[in-house]
Amino acid sequence: MVTETPAVRHDATASRRGLAAQPAGLSTLFFTELWERFSYYGMRALLTLFMVAAIADGGLGFTTAEAGRIYGNYTMAVYMLAIPGGFIADQVLGARRAVLIGGTMIALGHYALAWPAQMTFYIGLVLIALGTGLFKPNITALVGALYEKSDTRRDAGFSIFYMGINIGGFLAPIVTGFLAQSSIFKSWLESNGFDPTKSWHWGFAAAGVGMTIAMIIFLRRSRGLPDTRDTSLPLTTEGRRDVLRGGAMIVLGTLALFALAFLSDVDGWTWLRWLFLALPVAGIAYAVRQPGDDAQRLAAIGVLFIAAMIFWAVFEQAGTTIALFADQLTRGDIAGIAFPSAWFQSINPVFVILLTPMFAALWMRLRDRQPAPAIKFAVGLILLSASFLLMVPAATLAASGRVSPLWLVGLFLLQTMGELLISPVGLSTMTKLAPARTTGFVLGLWFLASAFGNKLAGVLGGGFTGSDPSAMAYGFLMQAGLVALAAALLFAAAPWVRKLSASAD
Ligand code: GLN
Repeated sequence: MVTETPAVRHDATASRRGLAAQPAGLSTLFFTELWERFSYYGMRALLTLFMVAAIADGGLGFTTAEAGRIYGNYTMAVYMLAIPGGFIADQVLGARRAVLIGGTMIALGHYALAWPAQMTFYIGLVLIALGTGLFKPNITALVGALYEKSDTRRDAGFSIFYMGINIGGFLAPIVTGFLAQSSIFKSWLESNGFDPTKSWHWGFAAAGVGMTIAMIIFLRRSRGLPDTRDTSLPLTTEGRRDVLRGGAMIVLGTLALFALAFLSDVDGWTWLRWLFLALPVAGIAYAVRQPGDDAQRLAAIGVLFIAAMIFWAVFEQAGTTIALFADQLTRGDIAGIAFPSAWFQSINPVFVILLTPMFAALWMRLRDRQPAPAIKFAVGLILLSASFLLMVPAATLAASGRVSPLWLVGLFLLQTMGELLISPVGLSTMTKLAPARTTGFVLGLWFLASAFGNKLAGVLGGGFTGSDPSAMAYGFLMQAGLVALAAALLFAAAPWVRKLSASAD
């Protein structure tokens, strides 16, 4: 969905000109999503650091393993709830109302985190996860609804929308990191009679303000937007029965996946994590045996699903392993002036903003000589593997003191190039391969790959051992090796995936 072949021109003023050439509603959705992602990434930049910070420093004093578990389950829930969230909007609420309700829940969730207590911490995470499940798939659907089927501006529109996501993701850690971590703000708190160890909660509150801005923009400007469902039509008895049946299946499936994820954290049951891989493999094996093109395309989707899941499992460690590496083992100053470690989280979105036009130009130039999606994914995995390979010497050097921030800049550069070969390409390919009338479901599956990947990122981040650089270097090396292996398998499978997807060409 997000562009892989945008028609927008990319010089300095391209995005303004691009936005002007787009349906009027796009700017409303662009700014709403910008501020929603500001709140999500602003909070996420602090989450792990806040959980592992000592109680005396205002943190929760959790072990790294505990923090990794909570991070994994929380970020998994955020993406997994997109499936029921999309369904509720399609069948009952309509996307606009789903965005309004979801956005309000997200804002309340951030304000709950702003309140310094353990109970409000958990309530806040639950509210944000539920709210994002309603918000994220449906704001995306509203973008899609701006275009007729044949409108060639669709890909460019999604490209602009993805930029909005990353502008929010770039600004947020700068603001929340300054409030939560900087000595300047802490001493301001102290001199104004506030407790400086509570600075974390000022950061979470800023995320809440971001989400509030999103809702104000959306409330004031979304009235005329085309919706995905006409909620003024009453459902027939039969229709209502279908909705209830579908809803029950989705709720049960989601609960089963949650149960699997929680159980896989329990000692003696961690082998269940293999099911994250075994289930999609079984799905592919089943689909290829079925007759008809749709089943073959679903098998192709399954292969890309596994690749995406592996990608996100490493990439989303930006919020765990890499956040801790930045905080504990990286020099956090420019020309002698210290900056908050959360600022490292802004590097990936900056690279997305800088590199998207280049990738767009590349796809435009290659046109129909473009590599197949499976090949793009495999190259994305190679770049991801290289990013962790780069961390092997960085971790080794960390044995003798904090390392240069340039290591992390290199890591994020490689990872962002990989992201642009997987995330937008994946969205666009999913909508192309989805059998008729299943686009919403297939997009839900796509977000499920993010959900499983985030869960695994929590598990892998929970093993972070800042005090033992050689164990850490080994961990980076192992992961780089496994990802390279996955890339090799995907290269080998690419001709087969192409055959499975041929009916969509
Ligand atoms: N960074 C993108 C976003 O926030 C994609 C994240 C994902 O799918 N894991 O929308």
